[in-house]
Amino acid sequence: MSTRREFLRHAALLGAATTLPVSFALGQENVTKTVDPLFTVPNGNILNPKRTPRKITIPEVEHFQVLKGDFHIHTLFSDGYVMPKDRVHEAVENGFDVIAITDHIEYRPFFGGKSTQLKERNDDHNIAYDIAKPEAEKKNLILIRGTEITKSTMPPGHFNAIFLKDVNPVAEAVDDWKKMLAVAADQGAFVFWNHPGWVAPKSGGLEKGVPMSFTSEHDDVRRKGYLHGIEVFNGTSYYPVVADWCNEIDMGLITTSDIHVSEWNMYGSQNPLRPITLILAENRTEDAIREAFFARRTIGWAAGMILGRPQWVEKLFNACVEIVKNGNSIRLTNRSDIPCQIQIADTFYELNAQSKLVSTFDSTPKKLTVTNWLVGTAKPLEISID
Ligand SMILES: [Zn+2]
Ligand SMILES: [Zn+2]
Repeated sequence: MSTRREFLRHAALLGAATTLPVSFALGQENVTKTVDPLFTVPNGNILNPKRTPRKITIPEVEHFQVLKGDFHIHTLFSDGYVMPKDRVHEAVENGFDVIAITDHIEYRPFFGGKSTQLKERNDDHNIAYDIAKPEAEKKNLILIRGTEITKSTMPPGHFNAIFLKDVNPVAEAVDDWKKMLAVAADQGAFVFWNHPGWVAPKSGGLEKGVPMSFTSEHDDVRRKGYLHGIEVFNGTSYYPVVADWCNEIDMGLITTSDIHVSEWNMYGSQNPLRPITLILAENRTEDAIREAFFARRTIGWAAGMILGRPQWVEKLFNACVEIVKNGNSIRLTNRSDIPCQIQIADTFYELNAQSKLVSTFDSTPKKLTVTNWLVGTAKPLEISID
C-alpha cells in the first residue's frame, strides 16, 4: 500500500512506464504475483483539480456496449476508510458505469468488534448500499447491491455476492458458508471467489509460496450452482492460473480493486493501470449487466493487461484495432483507450491508446500476437492476418 507521497515520488522516478513488462504478463507460475503497488501514471494527470470524469473509449463489441465497473469495494460499514457516497464520487471520477459496494458480513470493526449476530445487534447489512444509492442515481452511476462473505480459512476463503436483493438473509446464515452462498444464489446473485491466492497464514489464508488450488469445496459449490466466477486480479495481486481454471470450468473472470482506503491513497486519481472489469452488455442497465455476468461476457483490465475468455477477448480486439494489409506492409489502428503490445514475427510494437502503427516486412506475416492480452494462463491472444 502506498501513501500519496510515495506514489507521487515513484511516479516521478519511473516516468512514462504504462504497462508491465511482457515477461510479467506471461508469468507461468501457479502462484500469486504482486504487482508493484506504486503504479505509475503516464500522462501526469494525477493532479486533476477539475475532477473531470475520466473518459474511457472502447468501441462496441458486436452490438454490446462495453461498460466499465468495479465489483469489490469496501466502505466504513466494514473495514474500509471511506463513506459510501464517496465511493460513488470516486467511481464517477474514474469514468465507471457501475460499481458494487461489497462490505464484509463477518468483519465490521467500526461497529465495535466482530459483528456476526445480526438479530441481537440489529445490524443492517444493506446500510452502505442504502446510503450510496440516492447519490448514485443523482450521478447516473449504476450501483449494485453486494456483500463479501468472509471466512477465515482457505478453503473456502472469501466470496462476493452481487446483484443481491437483500444482504441480511445472507448474514443470517453466517454460521454455514455454503448456506450463505445458497441464499445468495437463490436471490439471483452472481457469486465469485475473491483473491484465490490470498496469503495470510496467521489469519486463515495460504502460506506464502503455496500453489493455489481449485479445491473440492469450491468445486462442490460450483456444481450446486452457487459459484459463477473468480477474481483473476485483486488490488495489486495477479493470479495467472485462474485464467485456465475459468476456461476449463466455464467461470467468469473478474478484476477488482478490493479497495479499502481512498482511491487517491491506493491508485492516485484516474490511474489507467487500476483494475476495471469490462462488461459486454446489451444496454446500460443493471439487468443487462447481470445478464452479461451470467453469460460470462466480462473481461478484466488491470495493470495494463487484458484478461478474459478467448471468444470475447478476440471480439474486443477486433472491435478496437483495425488491421489493413497492403502487400508486405501492415497498418494497425487502435480506436480504443486500451494499450496493446503487439508482436509480429520477431518484432515488438507498442500500439498505445488511440494510436496507429505501420510496419513493412520481407514477407507477408500470417499472424500477430497481442502479448498483454491474455486468453488463458500464459496464453496471449493470437490474431490471424493471413
Ligand atoms: Zn476478502
Ligand atoms: Zn474485500
